[in-house]
Amino acid sequence: PTVARDRLRIAIQKSGRLAEPARALLASCGLSWRESRDRLFCYGETLPVDLLLVRDDDIPGLIADGVCDLGVVGRNVLLEQDAGRRGDGRASAFREWRALGFGSCRLALAVPEGWEWQGAAQLAGKRIATSYPALLSQWLVAQGVAADVVLLSGSVEIAPRLGQAEAICDLVSSGATLAANQLKPVQTVIESEAVLAGPIGGFDDVRGELADLLLRRLDGALRIRHSKLLMFQARRESMAGLLPLLADAEAPTVTRIDGSDDLALQALCHGTVGWQRLEELKRAGARGLLVLPVEGMLA
Ligand code: ATP
Ligand code: MG
Repeated sequence: PTVARDRLRIAIQKSGRLAEPARALLASCGLSWRESRDRLFCYGETLPVDLLLVRDDDIPGLIADGVCDLGVVGRNVLLEQDAGRRGDGRASAFREWRALGFGSCRLALAVPEGWEWQGAAQLAGKRIATSYPALLSQWLVAQGVAADVVLLSGSVEIAPRLGQAEAICDLVSSGATLAANQLKPVQTVIESEAVLAGPIGGFDDVRGELADLLLRRLDGALRIRHSKLLMFQARRESMAGLLPLLADAEAPTVTRIDGSDDLALQALCHGTVGWQRLEELKRAGARGLLVLPVEGMLA
């Protein structure tokens, strides 16, 4: 039961890893806000799309209860709470609408560095500390392994040293925290990133149109996020060798340079344009390579 049905309300993390990138992404979709004094609510100015700033753990529940329409949250949190609900015999009440391409990490099993990892069966009868009991239990069942799940709300990585558990199941990005605790990741349970979460169905009022508009802009923003405009010159006969290196590009614009046999190329690449590729292009005959960021795109 939502109060305001003529405005879309999106829950995002108040502070933490996803707070800043979530706001930046929504702002890149043309949204802007006026912040309330208590800094918990941002009133949409350019569009009737408001933000509620909360703890990330609360986001799936806010969607389930209809307090918020959409949310930006880690897939790890969304799947854990969904698995928890279903474990309690409740129906799913939220789902992933879009993967957003930031906040990447994985939920992984980690064991002491001294262990020689031979597979899931090695965890039988062991205690595994985690803040993700539902996902871990689900994984253990799928592996056919019986282990004890020890629920900890934080500092999971020190559990083995404290003798609370033999292994852990926690979020890993660089692996530095694990290494600092003499642990090594051995198995990925889920790959995660920030996602736009929403209800299972859609909206049957004006929020549906707002959500559609937001999704269209979001898809555009996500598409050009890693896109680069690549420009260079090359001799006509080099073209055959150059084009395979532009497989991720939209049809390149090719211009003849007056009074010479050279061509100027302009290609919008959607994949990574790193040093490696630039060097390959250069070897294939490209000259004066220029890589430009793309500010906006409307197909
Ligand atoms: P809150 O105060 O909102 O509850 P939190 O401490 O639970 O914040 P953060 O540490 O800010 O949450 O992490 C938010 C999300 O960032 C995680 O749920 C996960 O999806 C993602 N993330 C990416 N890399 C990591 C990482 N190395 N460790 C933890 N989370 C990560
Ligand atoms: Mg949290």
